Amino acid sequence: MKLLISRRLPDSVMEAAASRFDLTARDADVPMDHAECVAALAEQDAVIPTLGDAFRAEAFAVVPEPRCRLLANFGVGYNHIDVDAARAAGVAVTNTPGAVTDATADIAMTLILMTARRAAEGERLVRTGGWQGWAPTQMLGLHVTGKTVAIIGMGRIGQAIARRCHHGFGCGILYVARSDKSLDHPARRVDLDTALAEADIAVLAVPATPETRHLIDAAALARLRPHAILVNIARGDVIDETALIAALQARSFGGAGLDVYEHEPLVPEALRALDNATLLPHLGTAALEVREAMGRMALSNVIARAEGQPLPNPV
Ligand code: NAP
Repeated sequence: MKLLISRRLPDSVMEAAASRFDLTARDADVPMDHAECVAALAEQDAVIPTLGDAFRAEAFAVVPEPRCRLLANFGVGYNHIDVDAARAAGVAVTNTPGAVTDATADIAMTLILMTARRAAEGERLVRTGGWQGWAPTQMLGLHVTGKTVAIIGMGRIGQAIARRCHHGFGCGILYVARSDKSLDHPARRVDLDTALAEADIAVLAVPATPETRHLIDAAALARLRPHAILVNIARGDVIDETALIAALQARSFGGAGLDVYEHEPLVPEALRALDNATLLPHLGTAALEVREAMGRMALSNVIARAEGQPLPNPV
């Protein structure tokens, strides 16, 4: 069975894949373009793609009867794959849920604390030699303990963030979801407008879909209170980035902590210039044991397909 892995994964994953399959390991750290996706659909039995690989409807249109029968995505977010077009072409799609949950929730906490307590700004102050010493009113930030956190997208990662905020920081939890969740702590389900208006800290954890594109637009940003902070660990296009930059420039709310960007990896100069934004380079799952677990999970789907077993993680 011919398998293409679209990016260099941890050694243990590449070795396991090579020992089991006729492996083509793509030697580039940039996403597959349209032509590469077309070739992969035509020539491979399965592909392990990841963030940004262009498995859009146009690729399936060129290869309506692909040799490839499985896209076993490395990652839980699969907005770079047109799942309907894949299905229509007889290509199954799987992802790696669960393996990423705690690590991504940890990065959300990192961004909450860094943004609320102005940690990136403070670090820059020290590094640039501008720090004059401790002072009682210097660099005052938002105290996190006991605040109200609104989680927008209360799935696996959203719930893991809520647990950390409630049990670790004594925060009150609001959440936005399409159904009630059974949780081990108090939390109130509210609509998006209420969540944004009442939050001290709002965290985005929805998948990128046509419905969630620009869910946070200028009107939504205007609902945030002047001290509130907004954290995005979901996908960049959940926020209208132009509107976000304008609101941050106007200082209409407290600050933003971002792991993802609308036109990733492009981060606009205007955003990079803002002290009230904490900017991370999509670090959500960036820990070796997490990337190994993701790789093993993606591979287990390919193995299941090879053995004619049900796919463990269909999307
Ligand atoms: P999940 O378990 O599927 O949770 C997503 C939640 O969002 C679900 O509860 C879902 O349905 C809710 N939702 C969907 N559309 C919504 C809408 N229009 N309004 C409100 N809620 C909506 O997924 P997950 O594992 O938590 O992952 C969430 C996303 O995080 C992924 O899709 C991925 O893009 C992103 N992610 C980022 C990183 C990173 O490195 N920064 C790492 C991993 C994942 P219900 O409303 O029915 O509950």
